[in-house]
Amino acid sequence: MRERTTELKNGRTLPIRRKDLSVWQKAYIPEIVKGLTLTLRQMFRPKFTREYPEERWEPTGAFRGRPVLVSESGTERCVACGLCARVCPALAIFVQAEETSREKERRPKVFEIDMLRCIFCGFCEEVCPEEAIVMSKDFEVVFADRRKSIFEREKLLMPMEELMDRLDFLHRCR
Ligand code: SF4
Ligand code: SF4
Repeated sequence: MRERTTELKNGRTLPIRRKDLSVWQKAYIPEIVKGLTLTLRQMFRPKFTREYPEERWEPTGAFRGRPVLVSESGTERCVACGLCARVCPALAIFVQAEETSREKERRPKVFEIDMLRCIFCGFCEEVCPEEAIVMSKDFEVVFADRRKSIFEREKLLMPMEELMDRLDFLHRCR
C-alpha cells in the first residue's frame, strides 16, 4: 500500500502519522468504497475468460502445441536424418534410423519425444529439411505416470490433413 504523505512548505514530504488521521481516514472507508467500485465496474465489462474444458478453444496455425510427425498417405515424411534431435535444446528427441527398400532412403526405426523435457520451442520444426515434424494444435499433454511422457512414433504420427493450418502458416512465414 502506498504510504500517505504530507507536503511541507519547503517542498519536502513527510509521512502522515497514524495519530494525525481522522476517524474517517482510520476506518479506511473511502479506500474500501473505491476498491468495491472498481470491482463492480469490472464485473460488468466484457469477459475474456472461457469455461474450459466445456468451452473449447481452437488455436490458429500460428500456435505451437506439441510437436508431431507428419503422416502423408499413411507414411511418415521423416527420413531419420537426426537434425531435430541434434538441435533440440532440451535433448527431448531420440531417433534411430533404419534402411528402406528404396535406394538412399531411410526412415525412423525408433522416434521418441520426451514430453516432460520438451519446451515447445519449435527448433525441431525449423531445422527439419522434410517438413516432417511440426508443432500441432494439441496443447492437452497430460499423463499420470512419467513413463507415459515418452511419446513413441505411433503416438507422434498425425495425418497431414489435420496439420494443414500449421503447414500453410509455415509456407506463408518462411
Ligand atoms: S519443440 Fe523444442 S524442445 Fe520440443 S522436441 Fe522440438 S526442439 Fe525439442
Ligand atoms: S523429423 Fe525431420 S529433422 Fe527430425 S529426423 Fe526426421 S527428417 Fe530429420
